[in-house]
Amino acid sequence: MGVPGPVPVARRALYARYPFLPGAQSALGGLSPTSIELAGGPVHEIARALGRERVLWALRPSAAETPVQGIGQADDGARILSFQYAALLVSLLPGTAPARRWARVEASALEATLTDPSTSPEEVAWLAEGLGEEVAPERGPRGEEQWPMPLARYLTWAPPVKERAFRLVHQPLRHGSISLPRERFARLLGERLLETLEDRLPLALEPGLKETLLSLEAPFLREALARLPAREGPRSGPVDPGRFPPCMSALKEGLARGEHVGHLGRFALASFLHKVGMDPEGIVDAFRGAPDFNEAITRYQVDQIRRHDGGEGYTPPECATMITAGLCRRERDDSRARLCADPTLLRHPLNYYRRRREGRRPSPAAGKEAGGAPARSAAPGTPP
Ligand code: SF4
Repeated sequence: MGVPGPVPVARRALYARYPFLPGAQSALGGLSPTSIELAGGPVHEIARALGRERVLWALRPSAAETPVQGIGQADDGARILSFQYAALLVSLLPGTAPARRWARVEASALEATLTDPSTSPEEVAWLAEGLGEEVAPERGPRGEEQWPMPLARYLTWAPPVKERAFRLVHQPLRHGSISLPRERFARLLGERLLETLEDRLPLALEPGLKETLLSLEAPFLREALARLPAREGPRSGPVDPGRFPPCMSALKEGLARGEHVGHLGRFALASFLHKVGMDPEGIVDAFRGAPDFNEAITRYQVDQIRRHDGGEGYTPPECATMITAGLCRRERDDSRARLCADPTLLRHPLNYYRRRREGRRPSPAAGKEAGGAPARSAAPGTPP
């Protein structure tokens, strides 16, 4: 086997922009440290500082809109290693939600880079190849940049993207291939990265490395934990959509079909999903089908709902409010609607969920267990 030659500087700069690609670490050649060297070596302090910043950046409420401080000034090696270090750090945090959030923010950042006009088509093609899609851009009838993708590949890549614009029915199909504008191709590449990172994270850290990191990064971990929403993750077991009341199922299904849902309906669904323990990524995902879906706005508004009252979060509207707003679906021809038959017994959608989980029918006291809705709050996916 031949010894690999030095990686050209231009190639290393590309890996610094896309440090998650296979080959990024080997682009450092003999300078590539082991994880334990990266955790403790004095020469890697800049990489570690940037790695911490990457994670803290992801834990901010409007993370996708804020660039990591100092990343542009660091040398290529530090930028590549900062990503590896952030992956180690995020694996130290409890649960899977912080890792998922970090992965989502890195994927959003990739999407922003790829849609930036200063990123050349050659660079997009190189990145796509690194993520497993060999593609060359073409020119459309009006000279616009297009990215062809075989239908079979599109069907594999597109399912995680629930937005209306990605549905197969809206795609022009020619000779078994779909042509995507740059921004939609970038979206698919972002999803591809997200899937890759979610498969990889959290990392299984060897005991020696974990102890070293826990000891060296104690101040960082304290800060990161303080930034985690108070109720990150499920509160009482996994979320079970089979136990959602008819009103919430109808809202969720309507959004998935691309139907317009008004402010109160969006607020009701987001606050309900939060209260039953869905993590923020899952809540944002529930809104992806909305015709006016905007990821940054949705993420911000979901955060507002979750952080209300010191992290307690807003309570969804009670049944009476849902009925007045025309959002109640107790008339639905569905055996599940039987629990709602008498609104004097069931006064709150959260009690429906609790009763179904406990396998009990709602009691007369059920309506007193959950509070009412605020007069007005942010509703996800609604542009301000
Ligand atoms: S009665 Fe309450 S829980 Fe049942 S569908 Fe109507 S609003 Fe929802």
